Amino acid sequence: YREELALLKNVESVTLDGIRIGMLANIELPEEAELAIENGADGIGLFRSEFLFIGQTDLPDEDQQYQAYSKVVKTMAGRPVTIRTLDIGADKTMDGELAVTMNPALGQRAIRYCLARPELFATQLRAILRASAHGKVKILIPMIAHMHEIQSTKLALASAMRDLDERGDEYDAAVELGAMVEVPATAIAIEPFAQLLDFLSIGTNDLIQYTLAIDRADSEVANLYDPLHPAVLRLIANTINAGERAGKPVSVCGEMAGDPKLTRLLLGLGLTEFSMHPQQLLDVKREIRRAHSNALRTQVATILNRGQPIDPDLLNAQN
Ligand code: PEP
Ligand code: MG
Repeated sequence: YREELALLKNVESVTLDGIRIGMLANIELPEEAELAIENGADGIGLFRSEFLFIGQTDLPDEDQQYQAYSKVVKTMAGRPVTIRTLDIGADKTMDGELAVTMNPALGQRAIRYCLARPELFATQLRAILRASAHGKVKILIPMIAHMHEIQSTKLALASAMRDLDERGDEYDAAVELGAMVEVPATAIAIEPFAQLLDFLSIGTNDLIQYTLAIDRADSEVANLYDPLHPAVLRLIANTINAGERAGKPVSVCGEMAGDPKLTRLLLGLGLTEFSMHPQQLLDVKREIRRAHSNALRTQVATILNRGQPIDPDLLNAQN
């Protein structure tokens, strides 16, 4: 079986009905970019930048960040690299201690944390922009819930570009800006976000947590953490459909994308870009090459419209 998978590395990721599916990797450390290449990734769909910050006594400066980001960009040799700005707070804290706020998962996390610390955010944006001089970089903003957070991010990005202009540092002025869709409100009222942004990436880990009111890290309620809940699937479908209408690419970068048992379901929801741990890429590609995307879409739409739960095994038996 391992040998069969290895053969898949250099074949196209395409469904039986000829739909090309993007295969992207999630990484947490710059070194993992090698693993992405080894597993035939089309690019990096999610580079979690937290590793630079978590467990550090001093914040990484612009040059340290630039080194880390540009290392990945160079390794990927022209393939797109989606760098997510700092997603700290809740279960991801700098010092390992949970924040002593009322409810960290609903508190100052991710983009909220960064917009409240303009210098920290500006430093990271300058470092990412400088890395964009070495290849195709896309900037991904976590935990977006409000349109004004996009506006503020765009202002911060423009200001970071001006800083680099003054210094004469190079960057890609056309760098794309996208957001994680992981707050239910964003997935429900997605249209203006799809208009304003260049791409969307669905973070199912948090989307499930916030939709079902289940702490993703609490083992006592882990049995209720259900990726197949019809409400979750409707939010995913709504986001993919809005992206399609707006002509903006939509990927899924949560754990669901890397589970080969859910590949047919996601294809049925219309997904054309999957981002996952590099070691899952070939298993998922194998499922993609055996699936008929349009037949799955019809089947999944019918079940979703009825609000019925979906049994992914049944999808597997049919198309
Ligand atoms: C997600 O929420 O699905 C996601 C990909 O981001 P993280 O797991 O880092 O919160
Ligand atoms: Mg998340």
